[in-house]
Amino acid sequence: VVHVVDGRGELMTGFVSLAAVLTEPGRIEVQERPIPEPGSHEVVVSVSAVGVCGSDVHYFEHGRIGDFVVEHPLVLGHEASGTVVARGAGVATVSVGQRVSIEPGWPDGTCAECRAGRYNLCPDVRFLATPPYDGAFATMLCVPGDFAHPVADHVSDDAAALVEPLAVAVATCRRAGVVAGSSVVVMGGGPIGVMCAEVAIASGATRVAVVEPNELRRRRGSSVTGATFHDAGAALDGGFDVFLECSGAAPALRQGIDLLRPAGRAVLVGMGADEVLLPVSAMQTKELWVTGCFRYANAYPEAIALVAAGRIDLDLFVDRYYGLADVHEALTATRRDPSILKAVVRPGQ
Ligand SMILES: [Zn+2]
Repeated sequence: VVHVVDGRGELMTGFVSLAAVLTEPGRIEVQERPIPEPGSHEVVVSVSAVGVCGSDVHYFEHGRIGDFVVEHPLVLGHEASGTVVARGAGVATVSVGQRVSIEPGWPDGTCAECRAGRYNLCPDVRFLATPPYDGAFATMLCVPGDFAHPVADHVSDDAAALVEPLAVAVATCRRAGVVAGSSVVVMGGGPIGVMCAEVAIASGATRVAVVEPNELRRRRGSSVTGATFHDAGAALDGGFDVFLECSGAAPALRQGIDLLRPAGRAVLVGMGADEVLLPVSAMQTKELWVTGCFRYANAYPEAIALVAAGRIDLDLFVDRYYGLADVHEALTATRRDPSILKAVVRPGQ
């Protein structure tokens, strides 16, 4: 028997966790699940907040992303925070009662990529809400203790959850080599694009431009970050050191590459068109660097530090809250209202 206590240290009544389960595309059911028992080096977390990501919406609508296909009922959600309520043997980094930000990808830790420090490229990674692994739209979650990162009391539950997309932005800016004085153009004004702009500014970039065709999203993004926002068709002076592709749109990829200075660096993060034409001549004559970024490795500590120090305010990203019974609404919110930057599910409510 696992003795599960709530945030005040009191034993919780009932040993049942609730989870919002995708049973088929477009259909979410709240189901009871046994509260997981923490194994060795694991903790059970009472989930406080879970950000809704575009990938959750994609699985909800289509039941697949590329080669990842939902073949069995799946719990979505992977941007999560919570409080540790039970601890297995061998966990030294967090105690019961500790508030944590949950890093949702758990590599094997032994393969060549893991040993090289690139654990985001581990072929055996278990990632929340990626088939066949259940995600965080649940009241209780069992996670490896090493991937439950402590957060300070003044970091909100929402901010601790949104550390996940912020870690993507940290990893992206790292791969792009954003440093003090960099000029950066970001294609796409969604959450990842705006967070990339924020990390670029926090890294000392002195010219940061976000290109976003939707006026509502430009206005919403402007309320969060000091980057400049531009319509997709608007003229923009080129010569950028760095281009961060966060839209997934083929024309944006081409426009961004055209805006790079010689020897500029492009990092592709946005998911959309799987295959696009490459402007080979521009890449050759300007000797451009073009690469991708897949999730992150060792980026949580930096993301959490930026938030805890007040350099990036993730609470500004949140527009709407939903309970576990309203996950369906949460997943369709941005379709109904494109000005929504982040919808957050609070499973305990
Ligand atoms: Zn590995």
